[in-house]
Amino acid sequence: MALHNMTAHELRQKLDAGELSSRELTEAFLKRIEQLDGTLGAYLTVAAEEALEQARAFDEARANGEAIHPLGGIPVAVKDNLCTRGLRTTAASRMLENWVPPYDATVVERLRAARAPILGKTNMDEFAMGSSTETSAFKVARNPWDLDRVPGGSSGGSAIAVAAGLAVWSLGSDTGGSIRQPAAYCGVVGMKPTYGRVSRYGLLPFASSLDQIGPFTLDVTDCALALSLISGFDPRDSTSVDMEVPDYAAALRAEAKGLRIGIPVEYMSQPIDGDVRAAVEGALKLLEENGAQLKEVSLPSTRYAVQTYYMIAPAEASSNLARYDGVRYGLRVPAADVPRMMEETRSRGFGPEVKRRIILGTYVLSAGHYDAYYKKASQVRTLIRRDFERAFGEVDVLIAPTTPTTAFRLGDKTQDPLAMYMMDIFTIPVNLAGLPGLAMPCGVDRQGLPVGLQIIGPPFREDLVLRAAYTYEQLAWPQGAGRHWRAGREVAVDVR
Ligand code: GLN
Repeated sequence: MALHNMTAHELRQKLDAGELSSRELTEAFLKRIEQLDGTLGAYLTVAAEEALEQARAFDEARANGEAIHPLGGIPVAVKDNLCTRGLRTTAASRMLENWVPPYDATVVERLRAARAPILGKTNMDEFAMGSSTETSAFKVARNPWDLDRVPGGSSGGSAIAVAAGLAVWSLGSDTGGSIRQPAAYCGVVGMKPTYGRVSRYGLLPFASSLDQIGPFTLDVTDCALALSLISGFDPRDSTSVDMEVPDYAAALRAEAKGLRIGIPVEYMSQPIDGDVRAAVEGALKLLEENGAQLKEVSLPSTRYAVQTYYMIAPAEASSNLARYDGVRYGLRVPAADVPRMMEETRSRGFGPEVKRRIILGTYVLSAGHYDAYYKKASQVRTLIRRDFERAFGEVDVLIAPTTPTTAFRLGDKTQDPLAMYMMDIFTIPVNLAGLPGLAMPCGVDRQGLPVGLQIIGPPFREDLVLRAAYTYEQLAWPQGAGRHWRAGREVAVDVR
């Protein structure tokens, strides 16, 4: 099998057996990036020299018999809103076009400690605001299964990298669906952990009460390995939780019997594309036939979720983005006086979607509107969380579609922000409630585009979510849910 079609745990065996060095592996991925990324647009920065140096360090450590992390030596890609010391970090914004962080995000530190070569920084929606990677200030990103379609967003580049074999796995961030939705559109596994599970230190913030970092992988086992690597308490993030991190991969079990699955009726009654619905129902049926119990559950506040999110997320964004003032970081456009310098800098540095969010967020926080909008939204957020708490009194996990449709065409929704926002209906409630959620492929639509299944669990029960995902994977795609799409055909870009 070609190296780019292999999972991390398979490559690990090759590394351990001495059949392959990390350097050879890293070179193979760099070559593939060189060949294909001009078309796909997954990377904003490729760090070839640094990656090869990390690979060399890994090979040396292995030769010296040093302890090796399961993901050590395996090339990984990192979303460009995660700080990498000495390596340009732009959040796909002109504001940070030439910004080189003086420090690493905690998750990046962990990659380095494991000696995982970082191939580069991936394309995204500007400051993670978007669902298609089309708000990136720098590059068009294309869905590897149909180059005229979006990869999803905001972590589009990280999803493409894994789907097209331009990295073995990758990191993204998810505020309202930005890991799960692109994972669904690109046919790979993506997970947003519980709020507080993974340190956000060094993640350029969008909406701090919602943001969470998580992995994209080719299968559920790799997802479990990656989650164990990045999880855990960090004194530098006051919202990270001091709880033991399980060995998620060791705990994986394929066991449908006894699994109680809730199906949210308010999700299934939304307008969902027929092929998406059929694929999700097929997955549920398979689990039921193998012993899982299905039960309809009600999440009545679902209908307020998108509106609630688009008050809270922009409010927090408007406050977080106030730091880009032309003085402290990034872009500075010279002008006659300080107010004009700031105005010019922010006018030129931010794109239209980011400006839209800042205006919206400033409005909902302003005196006279705060109670009606921001405060009300915070109250509804509590109702949404209670809906889930009630549901998890009866079932172990919830299963639903990740998105109402498969990947849409480039340009299709750029003129209609509301239509774009409505695509987040199934992912946003999970962020508002702070829960773990995983997306994985469960079939294709009539155009051959991947459909994403979403599995949602109670807080800090990533183990349950992963177990349900692994159970389904073993029943439906034992060769790896994400890799299934590679079997028998190469991504569209290879064919062209
Ligand atoms: N699509 C959502 C938004 O535009 C979610 C983005 C995200 O999760 N970062 O805000």
